[in-house]
Amino acid sequence: MKLETAFKEWRKLLGQSQVLSSDAAQLVYGCCTTGVMKKLAGALRPLERNQIPFIVQIAASNKIALYPISTGHNWGYGSALPPIDNCVVLDLSQLNRIVDFDAETGVITIEPGVTQGQLANFLDKEQHPYMVPVTGAGPVCSILGNALERGYGITPITDHFAAVTSIEVVLPDGSTYQSAHASLGGEQVDKIFKWGVGPYIDGIFSQGSFGVVTQMSVALAPRPESIQSFLFGLKQPEQLGDLVIRVREIIKSYPGIVGGINLMNAHRVLAMTAAYPWDRVSKGATISPDILSELCQRNQVMPWTGFGALYGTRGTVKVAQREIRAILMPLVSRLFFVSPERAKTLNRIRKLLPDCLRFKAIEKLELLERSLQLVAGYPNQTTLPLCYWLKHNSDNVHQDKVMDPARDRCGLIWYAPLVPMKRESVIHFVNMVYAITYKYKLEPLITLTSFSGKCFDSTVPLLFDLDSEIERKKAEDCYWELLEEGKNQGFLPYRVGIQTMKWLSENDATYWQIVRRIKQVIDPNGIISPGRYI
Ligand SMILES: Cc1cc2nc3c(=O)[nH]c(=O)nc-3n(C[C@H](O)[C@H](O)[C@H](O)COP(=O)(O)OP(=O)(O)OC[C@H]3O[C@@H](n4cnc5c(N)ncnc54)[C@H](O)[C@@H]3O)c2cc1C
Repeated sequence: MKLETAFKEWRKLLGQSQVLSSDAAQLVYGCCTTGVMKKLAGALRPLERNQIPFIVQIAASNKIALYPISTGHNWGYGSALPPIDNCVVLDLSQLNRIVDFDAETGVITIEPGVTQGQLANFLDKEQHPYMVPVTGAGPVCSILGNALERGYGITPITDHFAAVTSIEVVLPDGSTYQSAHASLGGEQVDKIFKWGVGPYIDGIFSQGSFGVVTQMSVALAPRPESIQSFLFGLKQPEQLGDLVIRVREIIKSYPGIVGGINLMNAHRVLAMTAAYPWDRVSKGATISPDILSELCQRNQVMPWTGFGALYGTRGTVKVAQREIRAILMPLVSRLFFVSPERAKTLNRIRKLLPDCLRFKAIEKLELLERSLQLVAGYPNQTTLPLCYWLKHNSDNVHQDKVMDPARDRCGLIWYAPLVPMKRESVIHFVNMVYAITYKYKLEPLITLTSFSGKCFDSTVPLLFDLDSEIERKKAEDCYWELLEEGKNQGFLPYRVGIQTMKWLSENDATYWQIVRRIKQVIDPNGIISPGRYI
């Protein structure tokens, strides 16, 4: 009855076409790459930011839970689905205005639906020398939702919530929260100083469930005079510990010049570059060591591949390049530095060659060019094909088509723990991932991305056939074992999927008691995102 009343009021407010019934919502938002299923009560698609307080008031007076999403592409963590049943999805993707941009400071104020691609076009068209905080998730993903999940990338500002200076939030009672300085009338300083004055509260809205974020200001990294990427391979996997020490030295020695550094194992690189060898892997098994080494040889992939970027003036980048070469050279193979422009030129030359001369190394230039565009702050779909690696054939794995792993029923669960940037920790972690994924007959894909000179965030995508209940269960069991064993060994996640929220607060520690008490005060009826990180 209450649901009916609320839907009637929402239709009046938003118009018939912007309110989806339960069945329609299930069709649009119901599929998640993790295989988790939730029953949706409906969905709302507002077209104006000023409609949000009224939407929330209607939800509050009828005690109906809303689940706000920005673009809803939280692939591998829940996609657009809420952690519990019977929520109404509040899809904010059509609120996609760039509200304000200060070309002098590089601070941009955006609505939730602004995507990486849209921001790139805006900066490009207006010729503003700033970079998009890109992620591997691609151009159709939001800036705001990603920052709220405390996502990260490898451009100079790797930690995306760190770049958030100010937010506006509609609270569960329909009132509007502004950051501290804005609430004192200081809009301008509010956007250029993250911490405000007094207790810092903005943070509770990240990985939280305390309101609908309707606007966010983000400091963009200036586009530097020079960008150089560097790539290298590690031939001997047993030297990974030594490599970690050198990566740490590089990150610590060149703060502000080196962005994030990615270390990827062979499976992870192959998933983006080579077709899965279905004809040579028996059902329920994984790629054998022999086939793996053959694939690596054919595709010129080493046991570990490193990838990073330098940002700065021509002079500083040149010096850093020389010194980084000296640090890495004794250990790694095929170290080379290349700028995004040079990769583009090489790729253009490749396209002019006759087919018979396009051998594999040259073919890889296209991938290189796209990867370098990413570090230069131009979003693209370079990493998305990995979601499709186990799909027998998918017409959608094409850079000219918009890839959507949830729509295309790719099976993917991310395991994303923090790993201390220490030799022993990394070795233990990698061994643990290999042992557990192989136990469940899943391919071990590992990336280690530097967050700082102290720690890596590792992302391990567990890939499986979403249409097979047996495979889904296998991936889920593997995920839980990684999570539990990782916890025993000290590797805890920086972010979790909707299936894991309760696990976080199982021990009822003081930290989670406080989170619950805050929730009780701000949202006693559980109107906004109930179950999210609680
Ligand atoms: C191949 C691949 C590569 C990826 N690479 C990266 C990467 O490099 N870095 C990274 O961080 N992630 C990565 N991801 C994970 C994920 O896809 C991205 O983080 C993506 O940006 C999240 O989706 P979104 O932007 O649509 O956010 P949403 O799904 O809209 O938001 C995420 C969550 O935040 C909350 N939320 C969103 N908007 C609001 C709001 N306005 N008010 C209140 N709460 C809100 C919701 O609970 C929502 O579920 C990758 C995924 C894949 C498949």
